[in-house]
Amino acid sequence: MTSSTADIGASPLGTVLVTGASRGLGRALAEAYAAGGWRVIACVRQVPEGGLGSMLCEALDVADAASIEALGRRLEGEAIDIVINNAAIRGDVGGLSSLETNDFLEVMRINALAPLLVARALKPNLLAAQRRVLVSISSRAGSLAEGTLDDDDGDYAYRCSKAALNMATVKLAQDFRSDGIAVISLHPGWVRTDMGGAQAQLAVAESVAGLKALIDQTTMADTGSFRAYDGKTVSW
Ligand code: NDP
Repeated sequence: MTSSTADIGASPLGTVLVTGASRGLGRALAEAYAAGGWRVIACVRQVPEGGLGSMLCEALDVADAASIEALGRRLEGEAIDIVINNAAIRGDVGGLSSLETNDFLEVMRINALAPLLVARALKPNLLAAQRRVLVSISSRAGSLAEGTLDDDDGDYAYRCSKAALNMATVKLAQDFRSDGIAVISLHPGWVRTDMGGAQAQLAVAESVAGLKALIDQTTMADTGSFRAYDGKTVSW
């Protein structure tokens, strides 16, 4: 940790925590919230020398349950309005013939299990806040109904992990309803990041603007929903 959570004062807008904030959509989401005046806790595996601008930087490897629990302990007593589970990996994309146990389990651990462990660790922080929104950055690739409509690639692990993440969203939405915590899955679109690749349709800024607008509008009426960056509902 380069800057303690006490170093940067409270924002009247509230606090947002983003996992996987080192690059890609997570970094851009964190920067968008910081630019909008929010207090941002940017969680990264490797805390950079000098931190990340005006954002608080916390070390978090979501593949490591102990790292998630340690983050929860460090943030004890902090109100966090919005938690964005964004960190993910793609894993092997070579199809059924190259499916490999350790790769599959690592993708499931990072993309599906970690968001549940983060939700458990940071639930007290959400309860201490006003907004109480928990976001899963998922993917249409994990939709049972739509995931294979226009894609016949070989990424079994990633698609299975995002389908599992979607169930985690629905289950958490049910579980956290009485606590007033809204839980949603969002599809960012196909975006030009390291994961999305250079051929992807969307610029990071366009996706992030859409995602942020959706998150900012989220109320308990939206809990348990799955929408794309452009506001369209995605079928589970
Ligand atoms: P990137 O590959 O560009 O970035 C992934 C981020 O996740 C990095 O910050 C990376 O950190 C972090 N991460 C990976 N493993 C861990 C870990 N064990 N602990 C902590 N952080 C980790 O991906 P995108 O920005 O494109 O994707 C962001 C989200 O959007 C993901 O959930 C992805 O599934 C989803 N998505 C993306 C799409 C796209 O087209 N780009 C399409 C649909 C969904 P580090 O730098 O340390 O590796």
